[in-house]
Amino acid sequence: MLSAFKQFFERAVIGNSVSSLTRWGKITPRPVIRRMQEDAFRRMVRRAARHQKFFVDQLHERGLDALKIRRPEDLGDIFTTPEDLISRPPEDFLCRPPQAVFETTGTSGPPKRIYFTYDELEHSARYEAAALWENGLRPGDRVVCAFDAGYWVSSWVTFLACKHLGVFCSAIGKPQPRELYSRMGIYRYNVIVADPTWLVSLSEIAEKEGSFPLKFIMAAGDRMTDVYRNYVQGVWKAPVILGYGSTEAGGGIGMECRRGRGYHVDEFNFLFEIIHPDHEGYGELVMTTLSRRTEPFIRYRVRDVTRFLEEPCPCGAPLRRIDMIKGRRDEMVVMGAGNMHPAIFERVLHDVEGIGENWQVAVRQEGLRDVLEFRLELTNGIEPRRVEQTISRNLETRYPEIWANHVCGMYRLAFKFLPPGTLAQGRKPKRLVDERVG
Ligand SMILES: [Zn+2]
Repeated sequence: MLSAFKQFFERAVIGNSVSSLTRWGKITPRPVIRRMQEDAFRRMVRRAARHQKFFVDQLHERGLDALKIRRPEDLGDIFTTPEDLISRPPEDFLCRPPQAVFETTGTSGPPKRIYFTYDELEHSARYEAAALWENGLRPGDRVVCAFDAGYWVSSWVTFLACKHLGVFCSAIGKPQPRELYSRMGIYRYNVIVADPTWLVSLSEIAEKEGSFPLKFIMAAGDRMTDVYRNYVQGVWKAPVILGYGSTEAGGGIGMECRRGRGYHVDEFNFLFEIIHPDHEGYGELVMTTLSRRTEPFIRYRVRDVTRFLEEPCPCGAPLRRIDMIKGRRDEMVVMGAGNMHPAIFERVLHDVEGIGENWQVAVRQEGLRDVLEFRLELTNGIEPRRVEQTISRNLETRYPEIWANHVCGMYRLAFKFLPPGTLAQGRKPKRLVDERVG
């Protein structure tokens, strides 16, 4: 029974339209998905053990036999890390000649270079198309995609996803928001795909000068706080749907549905693990690519912190969900105030008047005590004392447990005010840093 269903599914994936792929994605029972993942994982491990130098070295060092590996846990501490991709030559990961390369930058250091073939990009786009279809995208709609192009993969995959659906699409890179705004009416776009901060800038123009009727907005590429999301939805009177992806994943990892919380993840092309979970289930996301042949990743450490949402989604789809990304693994700091992550400070600072959008929170050490230092840029000559009071009050009311640790002397609060522009950083600013030594 399982294998008959699986064959059915595979035929649907290979041969049929995006709408039927979406339907199969919704009705495939979980045990079948699990079984398909296990089979694909074993195939992927065996293939990498034949063709990928990096993985061969890892197995060899630990004396492991690829034929005996059935599940991710069987690999023990073998992972592929972003640092591996940077420090070793691409040939160590490539299993066949590539046809395309994309890059992704982290908070610091050189870019990671990820290689694909054309058919892999098309494949990834089919699954993004299925997720967009599920969210209501149909032929006749007009999409404008303002994801950064350059060496980033997302713009291309979204363009190809629209191609699969036969949907009109302009993939325009990331222009000044006004450049798009001036063309909204000309091209009658009714779906916008872009990153959260850029969308906010576009929405500020639309709020002043008038919006256009939209079916929905898809945002991805960075975290989007509820404040931003509510603002953008309010301006356009259209739902904002969040997607989650990466260049390493070759595009989408997951997307929201209209019914439940979190992202439904693409379990047909990835096997996900959450490692080192805390008591709430939050840990680092790890993914194994199940369908990539050019540069497969076995247990790639995504470095994002999230958790699985175990209860079934109201939409009925069998694909597992992960919660909103809580932060980058390298931005989590354990200190006297508790487990700190950047999302906490976004929530504390977003509505504080008189501070610029560049900010940083540092954990320092003074003697035996932790210091939580807010580094801020003042924008309109507001009195620093007032900013300090507002931040303390926000921390107290929004995170009583963190505040309680302050009251009992587990850490000290400090504020540092800097001239505007001092904190301007790269594409992904490091919001929370640990500067304690030893
Ligand atoms: Zn759902």
